[in-house]
Amino acid sequence: MRGLLNTRLGCPDHERLEEELLETRTRGQNLSRLRRLTPPERAVLEQRERAALTRLRDHEAEHCCRR
Ligand SMILES: [Zn+2]
Repeated sequence: MRGLLNTRLGCPDHERLEEELLETRTRGQNLSRLRRLTPPERAVLEQRERAALTRLRDHEAEHCCRR
């Protein structure tokens, strides 16, 4: 029953993954505001953001909990 309720009220896993993605983005934005990032640093940040986004998308596909 857990699944049904969570799907309606918003899924905690989903929320966690969204937060992760947001945090990753915010961290990258803050860093690039503080100083100029080197291309490798930028690449790492972009890769992290993509990975977080992929996890979220995979979760949505698996769970059908997209709001
Ligand atoms: Zn979910």
